[in-house]
Amino acid sequence: MEKIRLGKTGMMVTRLGFGGIPIQRLTADEAVKVVSRCLDLGINYIDTANGYTTSEERIGRAVKGRRKDVFIATKTFPGTPEIIEKNLELSLKRLGTDYIDLYQFHGINDKATMDRILAPENGLYKIFEKARKAGKIRHIGITSHQMDIAKMLVKTGRFETMMFPFNFITSEPAEELLPLCRRNDVGFIVMKPLAGGMLDNARIAFKYLLQFKDVVTIPGIEKIGEIEEIVKLYEGSQKITAADRKEMQKMRDELGTRFCRRCDYCQPCQQGIPISLVMTFPSFVKRLPPEWYAEGFIPEAMSKAAACLQCGECEARCPFQLPIREMIVESCKLYEDVKAGRRK
Ligand code: SF4
Ligand code: SF4
Repeated sequence: MEKIRLGKTGMMVTRLGFGGIPIQRLTADEAVKVVSRCLDLGINYIDTANGYTTSEERIGRAVKGRRKDVFIATKTFPGTPEIIEKNLELSLKRLGTDYIDLYQFHGINDKATMDRILAPENGLYKIFEKARKAGKIRHIGITSHQMDIAKMLVKTGRFETMMFPFNFITSEPAEELLPLCRRNDVGFIVMKPLAGGMLDNARIAFKYLLQFKDVVTIPGIEKIGEIEEIVKLYEGSQKITAADRKEMQKMRDELGTRFCRRCDYCQPCQQGIPISLVMTFPSFVKRLPPEWYAEGFIPEAMSKAAACLQCGECEARCPFQLPIREMIVESCKLYEDVKAGRRK
């Protein structure tokens, strides 16, 4: 499979990587089989996270004996220095390895967190540097959903990779972020190539991304058949035809008016509702096991959403004119159904 250089990390990674979210929905043995098949197909880049429950451990089992053939990327939320150190040790243990190729700050979407990472005296970045010196991690990257913050992060020159959502609905990165990464030699990792499970037509979605020859794309894989289909797309004709463009436009028209980019321009909400999280709840249901959203921040977000005043202030701020109020009601209904076991 074709490889690219992932920015200044210098890692030669396959253009197609593996996203470790959906394997949480499988049994451990099924998950190991899926990851092993990806490795057999030549994929050499695997992404996971401390926050993806069983994912790291399952990947660890699958790469046993093949560690040298694969680059492993994982991440931690930017908690306290102690939490980060603990998370890193846990990731190493679960993955059954003594080094992580790329360690990333997970989901950095606001300036205050960015400043906490980069503070000159005791910034969290220093914890990562210490781990790099100790040989526990090899490269430092970051992930974000927020365009302005992502651009600022790239410009700092401190991160070797940027992971950001990119697909033909959320195509904004093609305009500035990706060129900025190229100028700064920051490797670009595509998250959500299928828009978090909202795009059913994988052929069209990957054809769009295949135009960008210097990015690594990490679809979340749950079934062996899915990855085999995607590998075929990478090996087949990558030329976008007039019919493909027509299909893309049709899907953009259908989905574009209902698709939340998680940019958070609609904030603040007077009720403290995490609007983008609530709007993307259907995508969580598609990709994650029910235990994942049975407790913790999801029930908290959904109970806040149930108190939406339907004031519409958020809609006036959304650059994509999404019907936020209507979609919040739909997400709340789905949440109630899932909780009651009426939907899986
Ligand atoms: S409509 Fe609901 S979500 Fe939007 S700002 Fe008002 S209370 Fe918040
Ligand atoms: S609702 Fe609109 S403004 Fe809010 S996060 Fe989604 S796309 Fe952005």
